[in-house]
Amino acid sequence: MADLNILSTEVRYLAGVGPRRAEVLARVGVHTVRDLLHYFPRRYLDRSTIVPLRRLDERMGSVTVVGTVRVAGVVEGKGRKRFELILEDESGGRLKCVWFNRLNWVAKAFKPGDRVAFHGKVQRFGYTFSMTHPDFDRLDGEGAALATGRIIALYPGGAALEKVGLTSRTFRRILYTFFKQHGLKLPEILPEWIRTRYGLMDGRVALRAVHFPRSQAELAQARERLKFEELFFIQLMLARTKQIRQAVAGPRFGPPGERFHRFLNEILPFELTNAQKRALEDIIRDTTSGLQMNRLIQGDVGSGKTVVAMAAILHAVDNGYQSAFMVPTEILAEQHYANMRRYLDPLGVEVRLLLGGQRKSLREEILADLAEGRAHVAVGTHAVIQETVQFHRLGLAIVDEQHRFGVVQRAELFSKGENPHMLLMTATPIPRSLAMTLYGDLDVSIIDERPAGRKPVITWIRSEKRRGEVYAFLREQLRQGRQAYVVYPLVEESEKMDLQDAENGYRRLKELFRPYRVDLIHGRMLPYEKEEAMERFKNGETDILVATTVIEVGVDVPNATVMIIEHAERFGLSQLHQLRGRVGRGAEQSYCILMVDHRRTAEAEERLRVMAETDDGFKISEMDLKLRGAGDFFGTRQSGLPDLKIADITQDQPILIKAREAAFELIRRDPNLEAPEHAMLRAYYDRFYATRSLGFARVG
Ligand code: ADP
Ligand code: MG
Repeated sequence: MADLNILSTEVRYLAGVGPRRAEVLARVGVHTVRDLLHYFPRRYLDRSTIVPLRRLDERMGSVTVVGTVRVAGVVEGKGRKRFELILEDESGGRLKCVWFNRLNWVAKAFKPGDRVAFHGKVQRFGYTFSMTHPDFDRLDGEGAALATGRIIALYPGGAALEKVGLTSRTFRRILYTFFKQHGLKLPEILPEWIRTRYGLMDGRVALRAVHFPRSQAELAQARERLKFEELFFIQLMLARTKQIRQAVAGPRFGPPGERFHRFLNEILPFELTNAQKRALEDIIRDTTSGLQMNRLIQGDVGSGKTVVAMAAILHAVDNGYQSAFMVPTEILAEQHYANMRRYLDPLGVEVRLLLGGQRKSLREEILADLAEGRAHVAVGTHAVIQETVQFHRLGLAIVDEQHRFGVVQRAELFSKGENPHMLLMTATPIPRSLAMTLYGDLDVSIIDERPAGRKPVITWIRSEKRRGEVYAFLREQLRQGRQAYVVYPLVEESEKMDLQDAENGYRRLKELFRPYRVDLIHGRMLPYEKEEAMERFKNGETDILVATTVIEVGVDVPNATVMIIEHAERFGLSQLHQLRGRVGRGAEQSYCILMVDHRRTAEAEERLRVMAETDDGFKISEMDLKLRGAGDFFGTRQSGLPDLKIADITQDQPILIKAREAAFELIRRDPNLEAPEHAMLRAYYDRFYATRSLGFARVG
């Protein structure tokens, strides 16, 4: 009889493991049998995928080769000191492998006579083929297996694992014994109807096949099934969270009232776009439903999210509720505050600004206004969610640029008041696949339309040689009364030097562009200094604002039409897009000039190319995800979702879509997973997923 306990068994009790290996395995996240079964091979070797050395060709890109090490040693001659070895195989060809780093370690790793598989990119120098820093796997004693045409699984390794003998071969031996002794006891977790509908391989067969594939076709099916399962359980967590959350009562607002209508009809100098109207309708539907709203507004920079948020605030005010508006930086808080005062003062709405370093007396006055209900809106950084801040009747909490906030800060906002309606906003359009996962538990409104009359920003890539031209262009724009940003990168590791860069740039521009007024703003300045610099730029007292990336999000100065980004090759794609979004906010044609170093990586080149080619935020984020990989994509880690071990969000979108559909349908059919056919799934879910914190998703 299949049961789950086998999966929870600690690996050290398995034949071939023992306490010493168990300790090292724990360090790579393998504690239980389930972890071990999910310690998926990183690569497979079989005769059909190994390229004979004689057939190597530099156009092949990355390949796998297998051979015997002939000579190996450190070479000091011309060029950098390096370690080289020559590999030979039965085809009579040769390959040189070269290492420039960790020489001591590689020098010990190989000796003549070793059988090794190398994986890497083939290069050609004259008649010699070579690989630099290739991946490798030792194959001693496994020639026979390969010769008989078997597919061999290679596992992620490392020095610590090798030290206790945990090579790929050992992994296979341990797993082989496991399957022989216990394979039949493994449970099938997915119910029959899901397996049938999506044509999935049996789970037990898949686990065995992923470690010991009999053919490439079987391996492909096994991987598909396991990817589905992995994504399915994440979606099930999201579906459950959403289900629970959707049952939470929230303040029931009445229909939109007087202030709301006056704002839209009299105060706003423009008509909302259709996308803005739809988002607002979604919000009204949610807030009048009696249940708590949990909505994310996703819209590219400049799509007009803030205006929608203000309308939502007025809707709350009309219903006698207060709102909190949380933003990630003080500059943004200031800006939103000024902006709201401009639009909301005429409607008699009281807005307050809460910042970290405010005078005590001022702060106390603001806190009293909020606690006693004299103020309707609190705008601020995370100062808004500090314990001392009490609201009289908080009905709506808005988080702008929400991806900038940690899960904890968001969660704290939730704990204010009686389940206020939550409105999250993000200017980082993310690919659908990632949205389904990161925001899979929220309702989402997408603003995918720009206000009418906006011209797309023209983007140029310019090297140092053409700086003179760029400055002449800038001068011409200034002459026409426009303003400009000049942005320098600021990375933590080289903060001092970067800051110097920005300061030097500031001095140079001041000199060059006299009598135009140049100003500097960076993160090290005091809040009031930043505030004043921003204010001067907004009022048109400054012509050129030199900045580090503090201006990245949300800043809105429609008269600024030029954005020069220095060292553009050093910025990430999303960041470049955010920066570019600072211009193109008015009716005039705007320009973004990417100043680049001629020394740049192929990846940087790709980023720049994408920037020049499109200003569609969704396309850009899709590319960014491809270039950076999902793990690194803002906050995936802090989302509280389990790491993916076999699926890849970028590559496996079609599987993800099916897995999500299946999970949500399951919850619809059997909300509490009570049906007998779901018993195993339920038990598995409870044991391995239900106790996980879903971060923000769990709160409320
Ligand atoms: P986001 O927060 O999405 O980046 P904002 O709400 O700051 O965008 O809007 C960007 C600019 O566009 C602001 O100056 C705003 O007043 C203006 N704007 C917003 N909606 C419209 C619209 N429907 N028509 C014209 N201008 C708009
Ligand atoms: Mg904004």
